[in-house]
Amino acid sequence: LSPPQRLEGDGRVQRVVLSGGEVVDCDFAIAAVGAVPNKDLLHGTPIAAGRAILADAYCRTNVPGIYAAGDCAAVFDPLFGKHRMLDHWDNAIVTGKLAGRNMAGMSEPYSAVNYFFSDVFELSLSAWGDSRHIDRRLLRGTPNVDSPDFIEFGVGAEGRIVQVLVVGHSGEDETLRDLVGKRVKVNGNEEALKDPKSDLKGLL
Ligand SMILES: Cc1cc2nc3c(=O)[nH]c(=O)nc-3n(C[C@H](O)[C@H](O)[C@H](O)COP(=O)(O)OP(=O)(O)OC[C@H]3O[C@@H](n4cnc5c(N)ncnc54)[C@H](O)[C@@H]3O)c2cc1C
Repeated sequence: LSPPQRLEGDGRVQRVVLSGGEVVDCDFAIAAVGAVPNKDLLHGTPIAAGRAILADAYCRTNVPGIYAAGDCAAVFDPLFGKHRMLDHWDNAIVTGKLAGRNMAGMSEPYSAVNYFFSDVFELSLSAWGDSRHIDRRLLRGTPNVDSPDFIEFGVGAEGRIVQVLVVGHSGEDETLRDLVGKRVKVNGNEEALKDPKSDLKGLL
């Protein structure tokens, strides 16, 4: 599908017209526009930033004694080997606590598997990992519209799980997090991952 060009409707949104001319009927539209950190506070300071304030795995900026955490920071994530701007609740809690502990004298690196959760009406959504590394996707469960209950495994080019996305499903959070945290290799286990009856713990 081509990118959306405009919304149309009779007093309320009823369809999305795409730039290629296709028309998609809908009942409502959700704009997922992302977030842009306000960096005004940094003007005139030597604190290094890209899209967000750059912090190492200890939440330290390039200026001694100044730490950054939460939405305004891109903390170095050793699991994915890069600075990551993760504008989610769990990341704000994890990096906020970590920065606080390190400011108070600890020396702890970031060791979490990043986690996102949200609810859209009665639909729950959770995710661990990084979608930018996904080469192919494996589906486990039912993605039907009425009662979705499925897990999608994002597999990187090197054959390891790099992201897990969960919709309408609960009860396996620790295992799913560890499948990403351990970058489990899927080669040969594709059918087990796709079969909702198979035990995921066995793959760890
Ligand atoms: C509409 C919306 C929906 C969201 N839904 C989800 C979701 O479903 N799941 C999820 O995981 N995340 C969600 N998020 C993201 C989540 O809210 C943020 O990631 C999280 O709140 C970040 O926490 P934070 O403490 O880093 O920043 P914030 O919560 O933004 O807190 C920063 C605080 O600093 C204050 N401040 C700013 N500048 C200054 C200054 N110069 N001096 C003093 N104080 C200052 C601000 O007023 C604010 O109170 C959503 C965000 C929005 C906007």
